[in-house]
This record gives sequence, C-alpha cells and structure tokens, in this order.
Amino acid sequence: MKKKFVCIICPNGCEIEVEYEGDKIVEIYGNLCDQGMEYVRGELFSPERGLTSLISVRNGVLPLVSVKTSKPIPKDRIFDVMDAIADIEVDAPIKIGDVVLKNILKTGADIMATKNVDRRG
Ligand code: SF4
Repeated sequence: MKKKFVCIICPNGCEIEVEYEGDKIVEIYGNLCDQGMEYVRGELFSPERGLTSLISVRNGVLPLVSVKTSKPIPKDRIFDVMDAIADIEVDAPIKIGDVVLKNILKTGADIMATKNVDRRG
C-alpha cells in the first residue's frame, strides 16, 4: 500500500511518500532525515494526538475550564478519554498547569488545566 504524508517535525515540511506492507515500511521517499521515517512509522502504525477539551468548574467565576492532555495519546483512545472527562467537575480555584486527572485511562497522560479560573465571591 502507498500513502503520502507531510512531516510536521520541523519547518521543512517534507512531503513523504511511503510504501508499506502490514506493519513494515518497504520504501520511503522524500524525507530529508530519519525523524521523517519515525514520524511516518508512528502515523501509520500507532498514531497519537493531543486532546483539548473543557471541564465543568464548581464555584468558579467561569463555568468551564479548558484542559489538555500532558502528552499525545493513542488516536483510538480519544473518544474514550472524552467520555471519561465528560462528567468531571472540579472545584475553583484552578490554575494553569494544575493536574485535574492523573494518568487518564492508564494512557500515561494527565489532564491539565490551560486556564486560570478564580473562585466566585
Ligand atoms: S523529514 Fe526531517 S527534515 Fe523533513 S520535515 Fe521531517 S524532520 Fe524535517
């Protein structure tokens, strides 16, 4: 099978074409360095993504706080993680960088606040 990617590791943005069979890369063209090969390998066989979302805040000046995963998680776990945090509520005050949930669904990633939310009143 053949696929094309644009490597996002550095500003060169190499256009990479890859031929693969099963979980093996047979040929790869267009990458200027080995990081491009590793990027393509990850995208083909174990894609990961960072997740951003919103979580409800109790007693905050805002009703929601924005959050993100501390590192990318497997793409096929995104919806599981979204479900897991959907009903979570945290107490104000919240500070940027606070860990809201540790090791969400054993992915190794924490859910961290990306906004300050002061306590109401
Ligand atoms: S293949 Fe290497 S040089 Fe090209 S964009 Fe990726 S990291 Fe940059």
